[in-house]
Amino acid sequence: MGAAVTTKLPVIDSSTDKISDTENHGRIYTGLANFGTTCYCNSVIQSLYYCSPFRQQLFEYDKMINSMLEKSVLRTVMPTGTKRQDALLLHLTNLFYELENFKKVTGFLSPHKFISEVKMQNLMFNNDEHHDAHEFLHFLLNDVIESIRFDSNILKNRIKQKHCCIMLDDEKTWVENIFGGTVQSKTKCLTCERVSVVNQAVLDISIETSENSTLSDCLLRSTNKEYMQDIDKVFCECCNSLQESERSMRMVKSPKVLAIHLKRFKFVEKFQQHRKLQHKVEFSDTLDFNFEDGDAHSSHSYRLRSVIAHLGNGPMEGHYVAMVRDTSCSWTLFDDDIVEKIDADLVKMCYGCGEKRTTKRNSSQTGYILFYEL
Ligand SMILES: [Zn+2]
Repeated sequence: MGAAVTTKLPVIDSSTDKISDTENHGRIYTGLANFGTTCYCNSVIQSLYYCSPFRQQLFEYDKMINSMLEKSVLRTVMPTGTKRQDALLLHLTNLFYELENFKKVTGFLSPHKFISEVKMQNLMFNNDEHHDAHEFLHFLLNDVIESIRFDSNILKNRIKQKHCCIMLDDEKTWVENIFGGTVQSKTKCLTCERVSVVNQAVLDISIETSENSTLSDCLLRSTNKEYMQDIDKVFCECCNSLQESERSMRMVKSPKVLAIHLKRFKFVEKFQQHRKLQHKVEFSDTLDFNFEDGDAHSSHSYRLRSVIAHLGNGPMEGHYVAMVRDTSCSWTLFDDDIVEKIDADLVKMCYGCGEKRTTKRNSSQTGYILFYEL
């Protein structure tokens, strides 16, 4: 009881974002060294670091948990099989502190410790191959969530309370509070007309892209009814068999940070492999998104904060960079150890290729993960 029970993670006001406040006063942007093919990791780290709610909450969490848990907990093995002291949450926090405290005007940091731990803890990344930045983002966020849940369970057992102060009222972690949305899928059996509704918690949304479209078009299209037939028939509990069905999906709960993954790597039957879709999908600096939950409607206006772009022609090759927008709407490119101010037109070149193909280099740069903040 006592302090531990009353302590709560402070709610972060992103208007007091340290980075944007100091933006025009010589803010230092720091690159990250690449260890062969680790641009998938560097681009995700930069996007998360410049995602103000995430960075601030990470620092707040670190301060709070250090005051609540004694050092011996760090030696405990988590259900993931990793000692708490090796948790990526801890290594990510240390890396963020290094970025925060980097004082040189130019230069870059080495995220070696963090990347070694990633490779050690997930064999998929333990090689020199090209990896998918979206898969890495998922792995990292889920791993951080697991560590917070682990801390929460230790505290819960200790203070014998059902609710733990480091969790939110609905037993969610602060990571889920930032990125978590709810996608609702409605499936209607076309034989008996039974409708089943399933709500799924998500940390981002993955959407199909279509040629010469805008992000809003793609989002709208993703809510269209889909006919499930032949091999896609759905089991109906009422008919007790696979039936042709109609399915629609929509987001019913809005996240604070809407991370959108554009499905650009698609399995092409003809080639029996994944190919990259280079086509043009325009994304704007602001995004109005409508949420419907039953009769309740809400609309939110999001601002584009960062873009992870893929440069290259296929899923197993190429390069990732992050482009980050500050509050004065100027853009910075993070290309591993190279950091430079860029013109907004360069971001537009990442829409993909439109009807008229430009040079090969231009056409292969495409936005892949977009982070929009409320
Ligand atoms: Zn049915």
